Amino acid sequence: MIVVFIGAPGSGKGTQASILSKNYGYKALSTGECLRKHVKEETPIGIKVKEIMEKGGLVSDDILLQVLQAELGSKADETILLDGYPRNVEQAKTLGRLGGVHKVALAVMFDLPQELLLSRLTGRRVCSQCGQNFHIESLPSKVSGVCDICQGKLIQRADDFEEKVRTRLELYESFTKPVVDYYRNLGILELVNADRDVAKIAIEVAEIIKKLN
Ligand code: AMP
Repeated sequence: MIVVFIGAPGSGKGTQASILSKNYGYKALSTGECLRKHVKEETPIGIKVKEIMEKGGLVSDDILLQVLQAELGSKADETILLDGYPRNVEQAKTLGRLGGVHKVALAVMFDLPQELLLSRLTGRRVCSQCGQNFHIESLPSKVSGVCDICQGKLIQRADDFEEKVRTRLELYESFTKPVVDYYRNLGILELVNADRDVAKIAIEVAEIIKKLN
């Protein structure tokens, strides 16, 4: 089954997906991460999407479906935490049509006041080697610019610069917010307060997911 993680860029849904995958064995699948991998490896998809991603724009629904289908497994007993998809109602409908072992059982919305999102994203630093996230104020690395885990170089994602972040937040408001109503109408939406300690949020989300089994 699929558990969809929805939330504005910077709401911490990616962090939650990786904590829950580590602690409870769920499969975390981030479409943003998959696309960044394509870009890094310069695949035909990567070459097509590089520019739009750097601008903070949205990649086409067709490409997203290709990426998603290549990544989804076919195990019936697997719980997949889907982070970053769907980002518009059309994608939500496409996902709903997959059905079978990919039934969407739950949508978790990570709720955070708009004013916190900008500073969370512009202050984010990411390890260029292992992908670990840091934040210059709330989660600094021990040595400035160096990853605590693998000593890789920390970088600022091209789409985490302020102007790009504003574009991403606008796109979220216009296209992704309606997805929240879509899942509310299906009766499978859970709202989670994302302005709290990450460990507490993870425990709350894990409890919600466990109730599904
Ligand atoms: P993320 O890591 O989720 O912030 O995604 C990074 C970027 O990947 C986004 O700004 C989009 O350019 C692209 N992307 C990821 N998921 C989607 C999606 N479901 N639809 C369209 N574009 C996406």
